[in-house]
Amino acid sequence: MSVFKNHVGGEWVDAKDTEPNVNPSDISDVIGEFAMADAEQVGDAVAAARAAAPDWAETPPGERFAILDRAGDEILRRSRELGDLLAREEGKPLVEAVAEVERSAAILKFHAGQALRDTGDHLSSVRPRVDVTVTREPVGVVTAITPWNFPMAIPAWKLAPALAYGNTVVFKPAELAPACAWQLTEILVRAGLPAGVLNLVMGKGNEIGDVLTGSPDVDAVSFTGSVVTGERVLRNATDHHARVQLEMGGKNPLVIADDADLDIAVEVTVSGSFGSAGQRCTASSRVLVMSGVYKEFLERLNNRLDRYVVDDARRSGIDIGPLVDERQLTRVESYLERARKDNAQVRGGKRLARDHDGYYLSPALVLDCGNDAVINQEEVFGPVASVIPVDSYEEAVQLANDTVFGLSAGIVTTSLARAADFRRRAAAGLVMVNLPTAGVDYHVPFGGRKASSHGPREQGTYAREFYTLIKTTYVKAELS
Ligand code: ADP
Repeated sequence: MSVFKNHVGGEWVDAKDTEPNVNPSDISDVIGEFAMADAEQVGDAVAAARAAAPDWAETPPGERFAILDRAGDEILRRSRELGDLLAREEGKPLVEAVAEVERSAAILKFHAGQALRDTGDHLSSVRPRVDVTVTREPVGVVTAITPWNFPMAIPAWKLAPALAYGNTVVFKPAELAPACAWQLTEILVRAGLPAGVLNLVMGKGNEIGDVLTGSPDVDAVSFTGSVVTGERVLRNATDHHARVQLEMGGKNPLVIADDADLDIAVEVTVSGSFGSAGQRCTASSRVLVMSGVYKEFLERLNNRLDRYVVDDARRSGIDIGPLVDERQLTRVESYLERARKDNAQVRGGKRLARDHDGYYLSPALVLDCGNDAVINQEEVFGPVASVIPVDSYEEAVQLANDTVFGLSAGIVTTSLARAADFRRRAAAGLVMVNLPTAGVDYHVPFGGRKASSHGPREQGTYAREFYTLIKTTYVKAELS
């Protein structure tokens, strides 16, 4: 069995413990044993990142460009193999996994370019013969903490801008999907990163999290995960004035207007609610359907779900693979049980037997459950859509915003006026018209409002607001 080590200060290092990484489509398939860092090893990684920071900050942007671009090339070249690994460890369908790998390469290449592009501003002062320059500097040591649901793309969209703008990194991937993180690190290191610039500490968040976020040598923490953990990260990091960027949950509404094209409505719902087994923070978990089309929409949605294929992530022709692990499966089941107690009708949501033992669940529709029920207020993170009838467009907008979250909000409509109105009034960071609430581009900002996010946006050019410090310099220089 292969053992995958951590990477600290330019060396591949063993940890005291290892944990197996299991394929959720076939739990007899163990991908490898992965090092589990302890607090001491994380301390070493932070120290290595600190020591490497001054030189990396001074590295010419052309070199940073070349390293990220080279890594992007290799990932693209190996997209089938890495996509297969991603599907095997995380459980999303192979096609989506390969697409995620290709997107990760594109992210690296985008930020490679940013290293050269983001140079700063030069302005005239309001005072005579004074010049003002606005320059950007690296923040310093960045901790990147990532979840398992996009095990390649989320690390890429944190690591790439961090490195492009001259920061050094301590990278802590999720326990459940360390293999892609390991590959990404190995590729970046081989592409030419100097020792200490990127450190990988696979390990248990609840054991090493406090060192990762609370160490005074950590200047910034970028985190994607649950609300509870995010809030803890925020407290730990801000105690020593580190900057913090959090991406957390969602309870994303999708409004089906009574003027909607119902073919589009069904396609958008199925993709947004059940795609990637609903394990996306942008999943459409509340489908708000105007009463004029409720019956027909539901009938068509049920027909589509009758043909929905749940099987091994690496089989062709599937709609979704399994959930990521037993804990996640049980969690989703308990939410469905709670919905039943709240008098909902639940269609589907049953464990499925397949050729191999895995965490398979059929997609679930929750009906007759008000917006204030637990299932409609807390993030479920599974293939579950609650369909809620609404009497008017106004009620749809009101319920769409009636949540503590504010990540993504969608509407299916043929009315330009409604689309425009919804865009203005949705209390969310992302708005989708005739598109699923999930599925975003890599070159534009990503993030939400309220309990969904904290701090500056991720991705695209906006990422620089988090990964750089601004310096404004005034110069008065005159020939005497
Ligand atoms: P999930 O329930 O989906 O695993 P978490 O928010 O617990 O979501 O996990 C997201 C990431 O945060 C993972 O990499 C996890 O290891 C890490 N993590 C967990 N606990 C902590 C903590 N106390 N401090 C920092 N990171 C943590």
